[in-house]
Amino acid sequence: MKNCSLSDNQIIELHPDIFLIKGKDSSSHVYLLRSDYKNVLIDSGVDKNFTNLRQSLLSIGIKIRDIDIVINTHEHFDHIGANRYFQEHALISAHRFAAVKISTQDKYVTLYESGDLNEPALRVHLWLENRFRFDLGNFVLEVIHTPGHTSGSICLYELNRKILFTGDTLFAGGALSYIAESGSVGDYIYSISHLTTRKINAIYPGHGDMSEKPEDDMQKAIMHAKALLNNETGVNVTNFREAS
Ligand SMILES: [Zn+2]
Repeated sequence: MKNCSLSDNQIIELHPDIFLIKGKDSSSHVYLLRSDYKNVLIDSGVDKNFTNLRQSLLSIGIKIRDIDIVINTHEHFDHIGANRYFQEHALISAHRFAAVKISTQDKYVTLYESGDLNEPALRVHLWLENRFRFDLGNFVLEVIHTPGHTSGSICLYELNRKILFTGDTLFAGGALSYIAESGSVGDYIYSISHLTTRKINAIYPGHGDMSEKPEDDMQKAIMHAKALLNNETGVNVTNFREAS
């Protein structure tokens, strides 16, 4: 298994103009795509990681106001928590099943509460559907709706490099995230099975290590999900919420 192991506070240029900014504590990773036309963030991490995120972006030469689009892979707090610092000037986007939860402040499923009484309501400007595309010139991101972890989970497929940003849908080694309130093991198996029809060179998940063995990861993820349905013990399930 060829994985890229990460240490704390790491920024990695995975490809020219595609950066990984590793999440601290319970935060998801944040990915920056510095495209010909727009600067795009994939996920924003937890609220309390914002200072670290801002510093990391500055070290790449990007200010907060330089971000044009934020794409949330799903509705959980550790992926949307810093949206509020971007939403006045950037377009916030998420699958419509995630967008409805974020924009109605449905904290029971997003698990997001800033604790800031003056905080403006979270907004989602673009409600995405399956096969929606972001044509960014040097990058093209296709939205693949992959319900399972949650109903509003998406993966983002970069067509030129055939790389997949997976949020909490697929991890290195095929570890499962927990199946959240709106999720479904059946949906999960179906979603991963669909992903196996794509040519994918690498996966870039929302937590943990990168992987250049996506076919192995997908087969293992399906195996683990089927084992969950069969009530088998010892299934490889990673709960980043509990781990934080
Ligand atoms: Zn999640």
